[in-house]
Amino acid sequence: MRLCLCHYSVSAGWILCGKVVAMRCPQCAHEDTRVIDSRELEEGSMTRRRRECPQCAMRFTTYERHEYAGLTIVKKDGRREPYNRDKLARGVKKAVEKRPLSNDDVEALISGIEQRLHEVAKSEVRSKVIGELVLQALRAMDPVAYIRFASVYVGFADLEAMKREVDALLHADTIEGATENHIPQPVA
Ligand SMILES: [Zn+2]
Repeated sequence: MRLCLCHYSVSAGWILCGKVVAMRCPQCAHEDTRVIDSRELEEGSMTRRRRECPQCAMRFTTYERHEYAGLTIVKKDGRREPYNRDKLARGVKKAVEKRPLSNDDVEALISGIEQRLHEVAKSEVRSKVIGELVLQALRAMDPVAYIRFASVYVGFADLEAMKREVDALLHADTIEGATENHIPQPVA
């Protein structure tokens, strides 16, 4: 059993739908099934999952939609695409690879960002806003993951720009409260 991660908007106030989703085995109705394969369809707005029932070994396929109904991401070049939690998670996981952060930490980070998006976003949000929320969260959690994410997302102009950011981080460690509002801006 798990909670549905989809969201819907009530007059643009985002809330979790909160439905309990039980991926019940169609054969024996066992309530929890194991995912053995997962593939994205329709540019990530749908996930196809092969599942196996641990009780009767029945295998079956589910097609799961998991997007914020209506939340649209406006990318740097002006293109729009539906918000996709998995896509965001992939970017963050790349940055935290081999760092002492668990999957649960990443999931919590993303849930926190979604919470913030509910507060600030109407029906559209610029990808830049999401990038900055990730940077803010990573900066507080793990400086190495932060620099990695920033190097991809902000695209430091050169080694010197990256060094300045690392220096600022090292310096911030010694000054209490200096870690906030220190987010580098993306190179346009
Ligand atoms: Zn079963």
